[in-house]
Amino acid sequence: MRALYPGSFDPLTLGHLDLIERGCALFGEVVVAVLSNPAKTPAFTLQQRFNQIHLATAHCKGVSVISFDGLTVTCASHNQVDLILRGLRAMSDFEYELQIAHTNRSLASDVETIFLATAAHHSFLSSSMVKEVARFGGNIDHMVPEVVAQDLHRLFN
Ligand code: ADP
Repeated sequence: MRALYPGSFDPLTLGHLDLIERGCALFGEVVVAVLSNPAKTPAFTLQQRFNQIHLATAHCKGVSVISFDGLTVTCASHNQVDLILRGLRAMSDFEYELQIAHTNRSLASDVETIFLATAAHHSFLSSSMVKEVARFGGNIDHMVPEVVAQDLHRLFN
């Protein structure tokens, strides 16, 4: 099966990476779809986020990386995926994720969303928290893949 894992990944964290690895083990193929929303100003360019994901997932068979800027269900149908993969960290994620999943099913009833619970030791990780810690010089080595740690050091030093 082929899963679509959409997100901003600004930047990729070890929580995202854990989800990609487990998605590959469960489904065989994971298409990581990086949101390129011109209305948002990301810390990392699309090219940088692509590069981070490529390098960090080099050990995973079955991962591909694409960009998208429209509806997730349109991206899902263009890439002929069987399901959308999303992660759940806490109840706060659940309400938002449920709303997105219902919206997507109302637009494309054949596209299911599968949620994986985050690994407990990664449940506090978010891209914005990692950027905040890095901005003030904190250690982020246990939060992100090495390539992302290097990019964050370059960004804030
Ligand atoms: P978005 O802007 O779409 O929320 P993110 O890059 O923040 O994009 O997240 C993409 C997906 O990864 C979401 O389903 C989110 O819940 C999940 N995710 C984010 N951080 C973690 C984590 N630490 N562990 C597991 N899943 C996560």
